[in-house]
Amino acid sequence: MSARPSKRRIAIIGAGFTGSVLAAHLMRCADEPTSLHLIERMPSVGAGLAYSTPNAAHLLNVRAYNMSAYPDDPRHFLRWLWAQDDGAGAAPPSGHAFVSRARYGAYIQDVLREAMTAAPSHVSLTVSQAEAVDIASDARGTRLRLGNGTSLPVDTAVLCVGNFAPSPPPVTAPEVYASSRYVASPWDWPALATIAPDAPVLILGTGLTMVDTVLSLEEQGHRGPIVALSRRGLLPQTHEETRPFKSFIHPQVMPRTVLDVMIALKADVRRARETGFDWRSAFDALRPYHHLIWSHLPLEERRRFLRHARPYWEVHRHRIAPEVAARIAALCANGRLTIRAGRLQTLHLVPNGVEATVRARGAEGTVWTRTVGSIVNATGTECDFSRIAHPLVKALLTRGLARPDPLRLGLDVTMDGALIGEDGQVSDRLFALGPISRPPFWEMTAVPELRSQCARAARHIARLPRSATPLPESALAGARAIS
Ligand SMILES: Cc1cc2nc3c(=O)[nH]c(=O)nc-3n(C[C@H](O)[C@H](O)[C@H](O)COP(=O)(O)OP(=O)(O)OC[C@H]3O[C@@H](n4cnc5c(N)ncnc54)[C@H](O)[C@@H]3O)c2cc1C
Repeated sequence: MSARPSKRRIAIIGAGFTGSVLAAHLMRCADEPTSLHLIERMPSVGAGLAYSTPNAAHLLNVRAYNMSAYPDDPRHFLRWLWAQDDGAGAAPPSGHAFVSRARYGAYIQDVLREAMTAAPSHVSLTVSQAEAVDIASDARGTRLRLGNGTSLPVDTAVLCVGNFAPSPPPVTAPEVYASSRYVASPWDWPALATIAPDAPVLILGTGLTMVDTVLSLEEQGHRGPIVALSRRGLLPQTHEETRPFKSFIHPQVMPRTVLDVMIALKADVRRARETGFDWRSAFDALRPYHHLIWSHLPLEERRRFLRHARPYWEVHRHRIAPEVAARIAALCANGRLTIRAGRLQTLHLVPNGVEATVRARGAEGTVWTRTVGSIVNATGTECDFSRIAHPLVKALLTRGLARPDPLRLGLDVTMDGALIGEDGQVSDRLFALGPISRPPFWEMTAVPELRSQCARAARHIARLPRSATPLPESALAGARAIS
């Protein structure tokens, strides 16, 4: 039998924002010998999907002053930003600026580098470029299999695998989805680059990802007309300066229904306006209570929120930078971009592209048809884990180590991020952080929430019981049954 390893071993799967920042926090707070394994399938760590965009027009949708990786050091990102020299003598951006996402990716890379340099000698970090494809875990420990065939025994594994591309729309059109006319992932930059400059384009979705897609097309010199379609045709609202405002919501008497939340929010907005504040100040004043509000809503009320309020919530909560909003407004004004509300009905491959039929929203319910050169699916990230084809996700579900939550928002986890298995058992070896851990929180998307989650999780994970012996290789047997 193998001996108990001398160090605590923690694997972090995925080194985007969440995995990298979790690693940085663990290096700060691990007070016993610890070896951290950061496993990332992409060639570089830190940037993940959101901050690896090559397009400088893709800006953060949170002001610089609120983007520190460390909740206990809110000026950390500003210090980094202001210490950068772009070589051209440009003035540094203010804390109120929305800087490029690529620049933020460079910051997270430096956060990790800095944490490695400052780590105490009893903590080590190994970064592996590999894809985690299978996992086994029980009371004895955890073992991962990587795509390169190696396996890694650890005490604890933390999934920080980020956002998944959207599933195809609910319209049967396999020939369209298999064709090069259909761009399945709005973050597939090479696929976007193949769209002909004069081609009419249909973007499914009118949210933040649509905005990104339009900016990408613009940057590559696209001249053709673009139609963006969603059920309600709602565009993200624009950021404006807000001022501190005290919400009506009180932690002692939390609302128990969506209606109560809406009544309190509308009252806050009226009160804000009367006292010279903007609705945004009232909306932002709710932010510290989001998790508490969600935790007090019964399942049926959460379902009601998702069915009726979610689209309106999303466009008010996740706003865009004023300069991005101005570009989108100019494109709408000159007719290059049209926002339509309606429901996609059919898609057919035709000789010169794809013919889309849409039932317009509203009483008249008119149907319109458009032939476009390309369709981009920007309907938002796929959160229903029963629909995700990722091998690691499939392995987790097939082995009963994880389950989707009842509302299909992500993986069923506790507030600590511990995975809840198929049988309802809470794991003390497997954790999920980041957007995939949204179910108990609802808002677990943006950096201000994620960094606090990473800080809390690091303190918790660094003190969990260790396994007595490494989980044997045989625990991964049966992986062949997973398709
Ligand atoms: C396009 C976009 C823009 C955004 N902009 C903002 C913004 O401006 N401000 C803000 O606050 N939030 C923004 N967000 C929200 C975003 O969710 C978070 O800010 C953050 O990036 C999430 O980090 P993550 O580490 O969980 O996911 P990611 O950063 O996507 O990282 C996940 C990583 O896991 C890796 N991975 C996945 N599976 C495996 C595997 N099996 N083995 C090995 N590696 C694996 C991936 O390659 C990836 O690098 C944006 C999100 C998106 C999608």
